[in-house]
Amino acid sequence: MKRHFRSTVILFTILISLFTGCTSIPRSISPGIANANTPEPVGGSELQNRTGEHAYKVDNIVFFEGPSTLKQAALTFDDGPDVYYTTKILDILSKNKIRATFFIVGQRAEKHPEIIKRIVNDGHTIGNHSWDHPDLNKLAPEKVKFELDQTSNLLSSITGFQTHLFRPPYGAASQSVVNELASMGYKVIDWSVDTRDWAGTSPAIIMEYVKKELKPGGIILEHCAGGKNDNLDNTVKALPEIISYAKNLGYTFVTIPELLGLPK
Ligand SMILES: [Zn+2]
Repeated sequence: MKRHFRSTVILFTILISLFTGCTSIPRSISPGIANANTPEPVGGSELQNRTGEHAYKVDNIVFFEGPSTLKQAALTFDDGPDVYYTTKILDILSKNKIRATFFIVGQRAEKHPEIIKRIVNDGHTIGNHSWDHPDLNKLAPEKVKFELDQTSNLLSSITGFQTHLFRPPYGAASQSVVNELASMGYKVIDWSVDTRDWAGTSPAIIMEYVKKELKPGGIILEHCAGGKNDNLDNTVKALPEIISYAKNLGYTFVTIPELLGLPK
């Protein structure tokens, strides 16, 4: 009886391992099959960021990170300016003598031009982040142009210079949108470290993402206005921790043009 039970257990174990073996095979080869059926578009490739959005990558136009040869990283802050959080972030950066890059939403800049002036006077770089934060993949080309031009004109009227950096809202930029941005002279700046701070992520989890994803040349995505329930308290709490973590590892923080060797 005992022997019968043992052989049943062995048979059962063999069946289980065969079954799990079978189910793991399609999973491990499916990405290859998907790639074979989807030819890579000429001149670039489609990438998916952790937010689930697709971005089209083209050499020297779309950047997800800088060169890995220097231990540098760039802090980037989207969706500003506002009075409360942008100011708090500027104070932390100034205290730590760090320059960062701010991707500006035009209609917010229209309300707070004085904050744009402070960002620039503090030595930071600004980039265009559209007029009212739409998904550009869903807009007609002339509307995409309007989003970019309207913001660019406003920013140059406040600062006296033009920016050629653009970050697409949600990181979403199809091949045709990237082509249009390139034809307008923009460099498209994505990111390699996603803190998901906009979602109210706790400082501890933000640090987990940073520790996992930060590598030399890294571009760190954060926000300085908006966010879930308009609350970025965790961004403000985590920022000094991100700075001291990276500094202890020997990183220098630079702006996007410095990181990518682009004209200022
Ligand atoms: Zn945004």
